[in-house]
Amino acid sequence: TSFVFDFTEGSKEQSDLLGGKGAGLAEMTRLGLPVPPGFTITTAACRAYLTTGEIPSGLSAEVAAHLGRLEHELGRALGDAEDPLLVSVRSGAKFSMPGMMETILDIGLNDRSVHGLAKHSGDDHFAWDSYRRLLQMYARTVLEVPDELLQAAMSPEYAVHGVATPEELPTPAIERACGALKGVIAQYSGREFPQDPHEQLELAIRAVFRSWSTPRAELYRRQEGIPDDLGTAVNVMAMVFGNRGSGSGTGVAFTRDPASGEPGVYGDYLQDAQGEDVVSGVRNTVPLAELRTIDPASYQELLAAMSALEHHYRDLCDIEFTIERGRLWILQTRVGKRTAAAAFRIAVQLVDEGLITLDEALARVSGTQLAHLMFPRFDSGHDTPVLARGVAASPGAAVGVAAFDSAEAQRLAAAGQPVILIRRETTPDDLPGMVAAEGIVTTRGGKTSHAAVVARGMGKTCVCGVDTLTVDADARRAVASGGVEIVEGDLLSVDGLTGTIYRGRVAVVPSPVVAFFEKGADGNETDELVTAVDRVLRHADRRRRLGVHANADTPADARRARRFGAEGIGLCRTEHMFLGERRQLVEQLILAEGPVEQQAALDQLLPLQRADFTEIFTAMDGLPVTVRLIDPPLHEFLPDLTDLSVRVAVDRAQGRADSDADRLLAAVRRMHEMNPMLGLRGVRLGIVIPGLFALQTRAIAEAAAAVAAAGGDVRPEIMVPLVAGEQEMRLVRHEIEQVLTTVAAETGQRLAIRIGTMIEVPRAALRAGAIARAADFFSFGTNDLTQLTWAFSRDDVEATIFPRYLESRIFAVSPFETLDREGVGRLVEIAVAEGRAANPDLVIGVCGEHGGDPGSIDFFAQAGLDYVSCSPFRVPVARLEAGRAAV
Ligand code: ADP
Ligand code: MG
Ligand code: MG
Repeated sequence: TSFVFDFTEGSKEQSDLLGGKGAGLAEMTRLGLPVPPGFTITTAACRAYLTTGEIPSGLSAEVAAHLGRLEHELGRALGDAEDPLLVSVRSGAKFSMPGMMETILDIGLNDRSVHGLAKHSGDDHFAWDSYRRLLQMYARTVLEVPDELLQAAMSPEYAVHGVATPEELPTPAIERACGALKGVIAQYSGREFPQDPHEQLELAIRAVFRSWSTPRAELYRRQEGIPDDLGTAVNVMAMVFGNRGSGSGTGVAFTRDPASGEPGVYGDYLQDAQGEDVVSGVRNTVPLAELRTIDPASYQELLAAMSALEHHYRDLCDIEFTIERGRLWILQTRVGKRTAAAAFRIAVQLVDEGLITLDEALARVSGTQLAHLMFPRFDSGHDTPVLARGVAASPGAAVGVAAFDSAEAQRLAAAGQPVILIRRETTPDDLPGMVAAEGIVTTRGGKTSHAAVVARGMGKTCVCGVDTLTVDADARRAVASGGVEIVEGDLLSVDGLTGTIYRGRVAVVPSPVVAFFEKGADGNETDELVTAVDRVLRHADRRRRLGVHANADTPADARRARRFGAEGIGLCRTEHMFLGERRQLVEQLILAEGPVEQQAALDQLLPLQRADFTEIFTAMDGLPVTVRLIDPPLHEFLPDLTDLSVRVAVDRAQGRADSDADRLLAAVRRMHEMNPMLGLRGVRLGIVIPGLFALQTRAIAEAAAAVAAAGGDVRPEIMVPLVAGEQEMRLVRHEIEQVLTTVAAETGQRLAIRIGTMIEVPRAALRAGAIARAADFFSFGTNDLTQLTWAFSRDDVEATIFPRYLESRIFAVSPFETLDREGVGRLVEIAVAEGRAANPDLVIGVCGEHGGDPGSIDFFAQAGLDYVSCSPFRVPVARLEAGRAAV
C-alpha cells in the first residue's frame, strides 16, 4: 500500500486517509477547479512516524517519485537556482483543528534560488519577502524558536524604516532581516539553515507529523472529543503567490454567512499578501465583495467556483483562495462550521433550493444546537467592549458584579446582587460561591475542568480558560490584556455560548424560539430562524417512532409541556403534595397510635391531593399522565433531627413539657437513617407505612372519575418507584387494584388505569421478566439507575471525583449527563428484552434526565423504547433527536 497519493487520485470520501484538507484538494482537482498541483502523504504514514519516531520505510522514495512528477509537470525543479519550484507543506487531519497544527510555505528557497526567483519574476521584493517568510516559518515550526527571538531579529529594521510589518520594508532591509533570521536559526539550533531544498522538505514533513502531538493540539482534541490516534495527513503543494503586488492577494470565502445563515458573499480579502496574513489580523482585510471592483474577472470566477462547490457538497463551504497576478487559485475547501442559528436556516434554505431533502436537513442539525437556541441571549446590537474570550463551557447569558472568592460571591448574592465568580480555577471549596453566582469565569482549564463540569451540572453560565485574564484573588482584582483592570463589584456580562466576556451590562433578550413555542404552533411568525426550526421539528415529528413525554408536577408545567409538543406526562412527581402546610398531616400520620388516628390523618390529606390531581388531569386532557407514587426518603417530610432535639431540650429546660414534641422526636430518631437514599423510600415507604399508597391511589382515582364525569378524557397511570423485585410489585399492585375497584364501584366510572413501575434499581433490570408479569409499563429512572450501577452519589461526585475522571479519560462525559451505554445501557437492554418477552404489551419509557439528552436519545430509540420523558424545555430537543434517530 502506498503512503502518497497525487491530488488527481483521491476524493472527498477519503478523509480518513488523506485528512479533510487532502480529500478536499483531491475532490476540487477532480471537479476541474483551479487547484495548484501536489500530493498528499497519508495519515497512516503519520501514525507510523508517531509510533516509531522514524519516517516509515519507503515513504522517502514515494515522496521523491511524486515530487519528480510534479517537477516534470511544471517544468521546474524544487529549489532550482535559476527558476525554482517552491512548495508548501500543509498539515490536515480528518477533523479540522483550526490553527492547531503547522504549515510551512515557500519551501525550496535558499541563498541561491532566491536570486533565481527574483530574476525570473522580475520582482526582488517579492522573492526576498518569500525567503523571509520561509525562514520565519522554518524557525518557528521545525526548530520551535520562540517568537520573541524572531521578532528581535526583525525589529531593528522596523525601527530604521518606521514600519510595523515586514512586507513594508524595502528589499535591502528584507535581505538584512533574512541574514538576521539565519543567525538566530544557527545560534538556536547549532547548525545553519539547510540550503538543500530536499532536506528542507523532509524536515518540514517531520515537523508537520510532530505537530499532531503538541500539548495545544492535544488539549483541543480532548475538548472537541477527537480521538488522539488519528494522526494528520501532509499536503505538499506547488506554491502560488498572492504577494506579487496589488494585482495579487489572498482571501477566505464562505458560500453563506456562517454566523447568521444569510445567503450572500461573505469573506475577507487582502491584496499583496500570502497565506496566514488574512487571518493573522496584523493587516486590515477588506470585505470580499470589494474584490468585485479590485479584480472583476477573478471575482466572477470565484463566485462560480463557490457555487460549484456548494452544489457539489450540497452544504455551506468555506474556501481559501489566492490570486496571483490576476489568476485565481483555490487552495482549500471544507464544509464550513456554523452557529446553531445558521445551521437551521441553511438546512432549510438548501431544502428550498432543492439541494437536499428534509431528511438530510434533519440530519444536519442537532438537539444540542436547538438547546442553545432556547437559552436567553445577549442582544446583538450592543457596543459593550469585549474584556476577554475563553472556552464556552456552559451556555447562558449571565450579568453580574465581579467577585474573586467564594465568600465574597455569597455575601454579594445574599445582598441581592447578581454575581460573576472569577477564579483561576475552581475546587470543591468554591462550591458555595458557584451556587451563589450567576456565572463563573476561570482563567485556566477547558470544557472538562472542575468549573465547567460543575457549572453544566448546575445549569450555570460558565467560560473557562480565559488565559488573557490574570487574576489576583488576594488583591481582589484581575487584569485583562491591554491592561484593563477589573475590581470587585465591577459589572460584567458573560456569554456562555460564545465564551465572550464583556465589560459592563449587555441587555439579555429572550429566545425567539422559546417565545414561538410559548405562543403555540399557530403563532404568526415571520422570523426566518423560527420558521426553519419549526419546519425541521415538524418533519422530525413525522419521522420519529419514539414518543416524547414531559416530566411535569404542576398544571403550569403540564400546560407548557403541551405547548412545547409533549404527548403526555411521563413523570408526575407527587412529593410536593406532602409539603408546605401538609407537613403537619404527614407528622400526624407518622405519630398515629393505631389505625383510627392514622386514617384521620389520611382523610385530611385526601381532598387536598384529589384537588391537585384534578387540576393536572384537566390540563392534560386527552393525554396520558403517569403519576409516580411518593418516592423520597420519609425524613424529608419530617422536621430536622437536630432542630427538633434542640427545641425539645430547650422546652424541657424551661419546664415546658410537650408530649407531642417528645413523641415526634422519638419517631424521627427511630426513622433516622445513615444512607437515606438507600433507605426508607419509594415502594418501601408504601409497604412500611400502611395506607400511604392507598391514599394516593384513591386521590388519583377519584380525581380521574370526577374529570371523566365532567366530560374530560383522562388517562392516568400509576407508577411505583424503586421496585427491586416482583414480590414488591405484586404486593403493591394488589393494594392499588383494590382501591381502584372500590372507587369504580363508588363513582360508577370504570376507568382503565395502568399500573407500572420504574426500573431504577439494578436488580429490577435483572428481574425485569418477572416484574413485567405484574406491570403494565416500565419507565427507566436512569438517574438512580446510574447512581446505583456506578455507586456514585450524584449529589457529591460531580464536584469531587468527576473532574479528575474526565481529565484521566476514565469517561469522556459525565454518566449523569449522557447515558453510559456500556454499563447502564446494558441493564436497559436486558430489561427491555426480558420485560417484552414476558409481557408483549409492556409499554416502555425513560423518565431520567437522560430522556432529554441529545447524546442519549438515539440509544433509547435503538433500544426499542416507546417514549422518552424529559423536562418541558427539553421536549423540542427530544422531538428533534428522536426524529434524527429515525432517519
Ligand atoms: P491551516 O490549516 O492552518 O489553514 P493551511 O495549510 O491551509 O493551514 O495553510 C496556511 C495558509 O497558507 C493558508 O492561507 C493557505 O491558503 C496558504 N497556503 C498553503 N499552501 C499554499 C500554496 N501552495 N500556495 C499559496 N498559499 C498557500
Ligand atoms: Mg487553511
Ligand atoms: Mg428515582
